[in-house]
Amino acid sequence: MNREIKITINRRESNRRYSAKLKMKVLSHYSNNNVVCSICGESRIECLSIDHTSGGGNNHRKAIGTLGGSFYRWLVKNNFPQGYQVLCMNCQWCKRKKDMDTYLVRRDWEKLSGARS
Ligand SMILES: [Zn+2]
Repeated sequence: MNREIKITINRRESNRRYSAKLKMKVLSHYSNNNVVCSICGESRIECLSIDHTSGGGNNHRKAIGTLGGSFYRWLVKNNFPQGYQVLCMNCQWCKRKKDMDTYLVRRDWEKLSGARS
């Protein structure tokens, strides 16, 4: 195999391992070493990620300018700040949907009650 290709592959592999280790470290911290979704108990690592407990995770991530792996690095660097939990993708999706429904209901309610007064 071409030497450069080999180096690229090795680098990619070590990046992958580093990212997996970093993710494990963060997930372990936020789940007290029992790495499962805090809602449904899903334990497949590839389905799990960190969720901002009060919502607005994407906005927060945008604000600190990090996405994906660098978000995990940010959490470690900042000594695991509070307000995060481990959730699976399904539960994150349901939570987001519920937040959105609540938001829409409240918005409609305010419109209606505003129209009445
Ligand atoms: Zn779940």
